[in-house]
Amino acid sequence: MGYVIEPEAVVVLPVAGGGSFPVHQIYCVGRNYADHAVEMGHDPDKEPPFFFMKPDYGILHSGETMTYPALSSDVHHEVELVVALGKGGADVRVEDAMDLVYGYGVGIDMTRRDLQSEAKDKARPWEAGKAFLHAAPCSELIPITQCGPVNDGSISLSINGEIRQHGNVNQMIWKVPEVISRLSTLFSLRAGDLIYTGTPAGVGPIARGDRIVANIDRVGQLEIGVA
Ligand code: MN
Repeated sequence: MGYVIEPEAVVVLPVAGGGSFPVHQIYCVGRNYADHAVEMGHDPDKEPPFFFMKPDYGILHSGETMTYPALSSDVHHEVELVVALGKGGADVRVEDAMDLVYGYGVGIDMTRRDLQSEAKDKARPWEAGKAFLHAAPCSELIPITQCGPVNDGSISLSINGEIRQHGNVNQMIWKVPEVISRLSTLFSLRAGDLIYTGTPAGVGPIARGDRIVANIDRVGQLEIGVA
């Protein structure tokens, strides 16, 4: 007996230099840059970063156009360094965590801020704010064997040519090996997992018709439209 329904195709990201990376789970880190925590009304010294997830249908490739989601009038951009795992693991030590990394991408954690704010106010889960079609645009991946570890470098996002977010990935509160180690104690990490590692300050609304361009030094560029 085979499948009783047709399985969905594996979601993939293109890789610089050729090939496709099969996407498994999508993890995201909340409030991992101090200036963004402050702009959202939190004290970055008092609160460790935390995690949430997005579905694989959040993936949108560079050059494509996202559909502005339903039931929101306040969708925000959050440009983030994406870490792609080539191996899984549990209880991974910080000093071993980089062994899991396949490469990096430039991603946007799209957020229905109005629905997220309502969830926060009512102490409800965040899925309605964070999980929807095209909620996780991501560039092609660059293998770490090509770019080396990305511990610092400019991270920026512009809309219609105007810079909205600009920071440096060295401003992360929890560094990539610490994020991977912590995630691996909470969840069962698998090859194909993506980790969106948090956003610097400057988040704000997108609108239909926008052209959004995000860049991270040595990683690449993501360019999407909104319809
Ligand atoms: Mn985020």
